[in-house]
Amino acid sequence: LSGGDEERALLHAVFEDYSRGLAPRLKTLRHQVIHQDAHPGNVLVDRDDPAKITGIIDFGDLLFGSLAAEVAVACGGVVEEAGDPITAASDFVAAYDAELPLEEDELDLVLDLMVVRNAMTAVVAGAHLRIAPDEPTHIASPRPFIDRVVKLRGLGRDRFSRELRRACRFPVYCPATPGAAADPGEEARLVEARRSLMGRNTTHFYSRPMHFERGRGPWLYATDGRRYLDFYNNVAQVGHCHPHVVRAVSRQAAALNTNTRYLYSSVLDYADRLTGRLAPHLTACLFVNSGSEANDVAWQMAKTVTGHTGGIIMEDAYHGVTDVMRRFSPGRPDKPLPDFIEGLVVPDPYRGPFRDRETDLAEKYAQDADRAIAALERAGHGTAAFIVDSAFCSSGIPDVPDGYLRAVQARVRKAGGLMICDEVQSGFGRMGCWWGHEHHGVHADIVTMGKPVGNGFPLGVVVTTDEILNEFIDLTRLFSTFGGNAVAAAAGNAVLDVIDGENLVERSRTIGNLLRRKLRELAADCPLIGDVRGHGLVTGVELVSDRKSRSPATAETSTLLELMRERGVLVGSDGRDANVLKLRPPLVIGADEVARFVDALGQSLKSMQA
Ligand code: PMP
Repeated sequence: LSGGDEERALLHAVFEDYSRGLAPRLKTLRHQVIHQDAHPGNVLVDRDDPAKITGIIDFGDLLFGSLAAEVAVACGGVVEEAGDPITAASDFVAAYDAELPLEEDELDLVLDLMVVRNAMTAVVAGAHLRIAPDEPTHIASPRPFIDRVVKLRGLGRDRFSRELRRACRFPVYCPATPGAAADPGEEARLVEARRSLMGRNTTHFYSRPMHFERGRGPWLYATDGRRYLDFYNNVAQVGHCHPHVVRAVSRQAAALNTNTRYLYSSVLDYADRLTGRLAPHLTACLFVNSGSEANDVAWQMAKTVTGHTGGIIMEDAYHGVTDVMRRFSPGRPDKPLPDFIEGLVVPDPYRGPFRDRETDLAEKYAQDADRAIAALERAGHGTAAFIVDSAFCSSGIPDVPDGYLRAVQARVRKAGGLMICDEVQSGFGRMGCWWGHEHHGVHADIVTMGKPVGNGFPLGVVVTTDEILNEFIDLTRLFSTFGGNAVAAAAGNAVLDVIDGENLVERSRTIGNLLRRKLRELAADCPLIGDVRGHGLVTGVELVSDRKSRSPATAETSTLLELMRERGVLVGSDGRDANVLKLRPPLVIGADEVARFVDALGQSLKSMQA
């Protein structure tokens, strides 16, 4: 080569990259007969209909190789002539993908393959000039190829991949290997775009928001090149992107998804399987698209069948975002409620008015329902329903005394009200049994489901008795266009398959017990931990600055969440003082993930104590 050391170093770097990174990855990609000089000049088209390909010239250039190489060769031809190479490459790849669908790993290698191809051509040309300078060659000089190597490398692999992915509607590039961080400016751009497009106060977790583009099992992969153990999750019940759920959703989406007024079998199959897991009187389903909607409909049902208009909730409940469900979601005990809602004192033996070893805790707390019922009577509403999340998540996952919900239910029934069990948090094995209300031994008149029901695919379900559903539908004719659509039903069915097939209810119980045992052991060295409680894989860890007075360690909890993030673990907090760590990992975690979590928590707590 004539260009000296700099050129040699450049080519050396390209071939190093190739042999270390690219070649091993190429081996894992699809191989087939490809054209190694695929460009428009090698394609014969019909004279009258240029869109019709009639032949390919130069069968000597056909070989068995990686499909990604064919894409890169053809892409190179397009890009070389374009003023804006990335747009040209995106257009080309989108057109290729429309005829012959590409895989995302193939897209990610296109730029590197273009680079290495030009580097090879430069070397071949250089060698030819050196060895046989007088013999004719169609490549006169290595120069233009070296220039292309420089230009292509300057485009930036991440940016190039991102645009190609966008063109083919693949998810955003997200490195799965530590250290392979994507463009650091992207995070700031997203925050800014979110503020301008979705409101200046859109909420996000953490002082520096996280940017995930990929998930698998209990792991979320961030664009900072790190993976994070997800102990926050309350949606991906069977793990992020569970392959069985993904397949079911994509197969159905590829077949049909339309208005739910047509007949289709999957939703009936699903309704049958779902009700089969509930008490025998719960036989009728109404499908919507979210937990909020399910609660809203349940509330409408309760009013319709009881003729009453008053509701009872826990004083710091959360049940959703519709107009009325926001009223049912004060989130804090001190927030004023409208006159048709009464909030009950949270049955929290650690922090509430009745504590620890006092006798008859359940009954003492349940008596507050008498006050609530009387208030609703006085206000002229009467009691239509008591709605409760069996996991008591927004109350900080207290250790609810056995018999409490049964005692409240007895009072509500006597007042003519229904029991609405909101299973959005507690259902589908979360509490170590199928349903949270099963754990409390209550009789549900209406059960509502959301989030985990579709493992992230929007689906909400209201399950009740035939009588309640029929009376309600007769009166209202309520119908949801997308509720329980064929794709949602496929997701729901697949989630049931996985929970059964992987024995996740049992796993939730055993792994949850292991987690709490390890946390209690950790508490011996960490005075900030005041209390550990929960069932199955919903666990509350209450942090206190003084174990005796139980003063809530609110500021420390918020610091802890950030420290845990630095150690690669995601976790949230809740409770009236935001001092309870709320742990809800996907049910697929095992002892390894428990150990990792406890280790990260121990290190973070100790760093705060130091
Ligand atoms: N009920 C409970 C107990 C919840 O925790 C939530 C969501 N956090 C909802 C209902 C509302 O569900 P969605 O946001 O899916 O509408």
